[in-house]
Amino acid sequence: MALFDLGSRKPTTREIALTVRHSGATALTGAELRADEARYQEVSCRSALNRVQGMPFFNWTLNAYRGCTHGCHYCFARRYHEQFAMNAGDEFASMILVKVNIADVLARELDRPAWKREKVAVGTATDPYQPIEGHYKLTRRSFEALVKGRTPVALVTKGPMVVRDRDVLLDLARVAGCTVYMSVPTVDEDAWRTLEPGTAHPMQRLRAVRELIDAGINAGVLMAPIVPGFSSSRSKVERTIKAIADHGARFVGCNVMHLEGGTRAHFMNFISREFPAMQPRLEKLYARKSAPAAYRKEVQAMVRVLQNRYGLAKREDVDAAAAAGTPADADPPPDGEQAGFAWD
Ligand code: SF4
Repeated sequence: MALFDLGSRKPTTREIALTVRHSGATALTGAELRADEARYQEVSCRSALNRVQGMPFFNWTLNAYRGCTHGCHYCFARRYHEQFAMNAGDEFASMILVKVNIADVLARELDRPAWKREKVAVGTATDPYQPIEGHYKLTRRSFEALVKGRTPVALVTKGPMVVRDRDVLLDLARVAGCTVYMSVPTVDEDAWRTLEPGTAHPMQRLRAVRELIDAGINAGVLMAPIVPGFSSSRSKVERTIKAIADHGARFVGCNVMHLEGGTRAHFMNFISREFPAMQPRLEKLYARKSAPAAYRKEVQAMVRVLQNRYGLAKREDVDAAAAAGTPADADPPPDGEQAGFAWD
């Protein structure tokens, strides 16, 4: 299929997937290579809101982009890139689909009498404030539509650019409700540089939380995910929680890394290439998609003790948002499974 047959219409994500399946990602001749070395393929979407199941606090998600140049090695959304016949490794972070008409489509969907104004989760399969948002402003325009549609939002991001939109987020908070979950898995610099190569410094993200709160927006932090062996030691968790508290976050939540499909393949390849000595322990801990329940409980109990110590609130919907990368169908570890590692 040739994209140049489409005239001025942008291809749909389905057409993109067919093209890539036939001829590889290099066949996307309309994709623009930008200075960040990523290629951006504009697409048109037929629907903006996606219905999801198995998430306790929201039924709808909204993602203006697919793929993410933040390129976190543990990213659960990597495996979703395979829906477009692209790989969960390099292509996830370097071939970004841009739904250029999403705000208009969303406005029409919110206008329907059948729309019940249920909460919409933004940032569940990509980062809505990855750098290209500075150019397209699709996230901002979507929020403007959500203000008009009086629809509440839960937003997850690692992008400090979110402070650019505090005016519209505040409008949203006033008319419907808005909570920002800033993702800061750790403030440890080595872990950050290693695991989240394209993201802003964790302290910059925490300063963004402070600015949002000062503007009157409900904002807190997800330590999601805590990665065993990289950010799981008590001292790193304590430093992170203290920094979160120091920046006035309204709440904190956490989860432990989940590995599945293409995400698992990418992460384990990365470990075997860069940290071969850690591979046997991680392979053992991740014999299944999730670390053993006892290990996860141990980490969560540690976080709970520390958040109490530093006076940080816990909200039940925070853990639901933190679990966004842990699908309800994750294989539960068998009862009585060994408690993994107390891994520093
Ligand atoms: S910022 Fe979020 S969506 Fe982007 S790569 Fe990292 S975890 Fe994935």
